[in-house]
Amino acid sequence: MSKKVLVLVESKNGKLRNVSFEALTVAQQLAEGGKVTAALFGTGVTEFIPEVSKYGPNEVYVLEDEALSIYTTDAHTQALCQLIEEVQAEVILMGHTAIGKDLAPRVAARLDAGLVSDCTEVELENGIIVFTRPIYAGKAFQRKVFNQGKVFATLRANNFEIQEKPVQAEVIPYQPVIKDLRTIVKEIVRKATGGVDLSEAKVIISGGRGVKSKEGFKPIQELAEVLGGAVGASRGACDAEYCDYSLQIGQTGKVVTPDLYIACGISGAIQHLAGMSNSKVIVAINKDPEAPIFQVADYGIIGDLFEVVPLLTEEFKKVLVSC
Ligand code: FAD
Repeated sequence: MSKKVLVLVESKNGKLRNVSFEALTVAQQLAEGGKVTAALFGTGVTEFIPEVSKYGPNEVYVLEDEALSIYTTDAHTQALCQLIEEVQAEVILMGHTAIGKDLAPRVAARLDAGLVSDCTEVELENGIIVFTRPIYAGKAFQRKVFNQGKVFATLRANNFEIQEKPVQAEVIPYQPVIKDLRTIVKEIVRKATGGVDLSEAKVIISGGRGVKSKEGFKPIQELAEVLGGAVGASRGACDAEYCDYSLQIGQTGKVVTPDLYIACGISGAIQHLAGMSNSKVIVAINKDPEAPIFQVADYGIIGDLFEVVPLLTEEFKKVLVSC
């Protein structure tokens, strides 16, 4: 049965997020010939219309409003609730990003609708949408279906294939009524973590307690630079103050799914695995051959990270320069 699917398209630092393209591709499959609506919120977002149109929406709603220029829960909740009503959306998809995690439950609760968060798979079985999400820190998977009402889902980044389908989408400006805001953002102070965004990175080099100090992260940063990747960390390294908590990967940190994840001096606790075990290729460098990280690694190097990582950096430099 055809469905009306709405996708909240997100941008960050002037760029659309890949997970929104994944959501638009999923929306095509779920709509089964029904309407796919993409929604752009903020100011200056019309510039994204050509890019959004590459992923097959029937229409793009543009909510240009100063109140939506910076994310706040109350302004976005009001706008999204009105838009859902306007387009009569039955399925609402967004990325499992900081915004998606905050907004989806809020709006779902307000509309008395169901929500599945952090989906890693979405399928149609005889016209019924089946959502799969990891539970118990990735130890098991839950499959969920809804019998009635609207359905919200947040999708974990890098888990869905992106398929381009260029279209001439109808562009519809829409002005929500946003009032009585209780939150005013006065300033955004960004943490100076630098480099590539962890959640979108294709290559991540992570350090654990084995790096032993702040300076111990230097070889990891150098390898990340050579590979054009981002630096991540275990909570062990963050707790020991070797690096900032914004780098933490795991159950209580970021969930990442890069093409390549290199874990250096990380033991492989279940809480860490919860954030990175879906990486495509995992390389572990650890001096303890019994470290649990080797059980999930595709390639394991038993050795001292302070010897292995600089060697890898040198070798990658040679190979990449000659390419
Ligand atoms: P360790 O377990 O101390 O491991 C260090 C490793 O480095 C060892 O395997 C050692 O052999 C190796 N090593 C040491 N020196 C070298 C060297 N020179 N060369 C090579 N290898 C070396 N953890 C997370 O990471 N993310 C989370 O989100 C998270 N959430 C948590 C939530 C809860 C509720 C709890 C209870 C815990 C959580 N943890 C999380 C913590 C987790 O249980 C582990 O304590 C943590 O992951 C350990 O970090 P580590 O692997 O860096 O340190």
